[in-house]
Amino acid sequence: MAKLIYLDNAAATPLSAEVLASMQPYFAERFYNPSASYLLAEAVKKDIEDARSRVAQILGSRPPEIIFTSGATESNNLAIFGVARQFPGSNIVVSAIEHDSVLMPARAVGAKIAPVEGTGIVDVDKLIDLVDEQTVLVSVMFANNEIGTVEPLPKIAEALRLIRHKRRLKGNKLPLYFHSDATQAANYLDLHVAKLGVDLMSLNGGKIYGPKASGILYASSQVNLEPIILGGGQEHSLRSGTENVAGIIGFAKALELAQNSRRTEAKRLQALQDLFFSLINQKIPTAVINGSTKFRLPNNIHLTFPGQDNERLILGLDAAGILAAAGSACSASSQEPSHVLLACGLSKDSAWASLRFTTGKSTTESDIRRSVDVIAKLLV
Ligand code: PMP
Repeated sequence: MAKLIYLDNAAATPLSAEVLASMQPYFAERFYNPSASYLLAEAVKKDIEDARSRVAQILGSRPPEIIFTSGATESNNLAIFGVARQFPGSNIVVSAIEHDSVLMPARAVGAKIAPVEGTGIVDVDKLIDLVDEQTVLVSVMFANNEIGTVEPLPKIAEALRLIRHKRRLKGNKLPLYFHSDATQAANYLDLHVAKLGVDLMSLNGGKIYGPKASGILYASSQVNLEPIILGGGQEHSLRSGTENVAGIIGFAKALELAQNSRRTEAKRLQALQDLFFSLINQKIPTAVINGSTKFRLPNNIHLTFPGQDNERLILGLDAAGILAAAGSACSASSQEPSHVLLACGLSKDSAWASLRFTTGKSTTESDIRRSVDVIAKLLV
């Protein structure tokens, strides 16, 4: 039996052994409720605060600005509802290629949707045109989960800074915050919040070789957030509920490991991405590469095979031991074609003929060669 080739790292990454080891003590031995008053519980609380400080350091932020959540879906909901609900009559602007966990809460508060170019890069001028005197939040993802496009966050942040300045001069006191869903970026890109110019940022453990259902929302101390989960007042009252201690410890460890290895891993995967694209060009010249070739995550390969049915290809690849995706895992059950591909101008037929391959730590050169050979065979 040939080695299983896992090319769906944007959907989930396996837990790293080091992360698992860091989490293990908190399931049984150190199970105490961090809010309890005895010393053993206070020690667990201290471990959470230590994890918070380490995460804050990676982001170049302060510990109270880190809110541990159950993952990117919750972080995105908290960022959007937590800001928008405080300002009735305000509006928000989000890009058309956001994950549903941004798009759906955004639509629920009547967001304006900013278009993207054919490569999936947000059209910054059109985005900024949508920002008016009542706009309180702009949300643009750092890197797209389907086509891997990396968005120009510092450029958007700069344009928003200018708008804030003009607002102040006019006496408009409404804040204008910038949120980014950086879920897919954390393995490969610098997450320093000041460099990116974001006020809020979502991260997710399950995509960085950490535990699923773990993550954070970074919220600058300048941002007044209203909680969406009420209860015992944990996480500075911004996210009530007994802490997922093992998840928090595992998330912090995973983020550290991901950020420490991001440069070397990005370089390694970039070479495999180049190889994938060049083999596709040689062997399947009719295939179309989606997304930007320049501003792209190093682990994303997204292709349209005109005239093909992606579900059939997925099943054929699966039978050959290759795991890939048609669109994003979260919408795999949907009967609608990918909103990301449609926003990039692809037809419905092209969207249904598209596949995503996302490499990761386990991916080797021979995996890439074999995958392209199998795809070529499936197409004849
Ligand atoms: N945002 C992006 C960009 C994602 O890729 C995902 C997961 N596919 C999410 C948010 C949601 O993550 P989760 O379902 O783990 O909360």
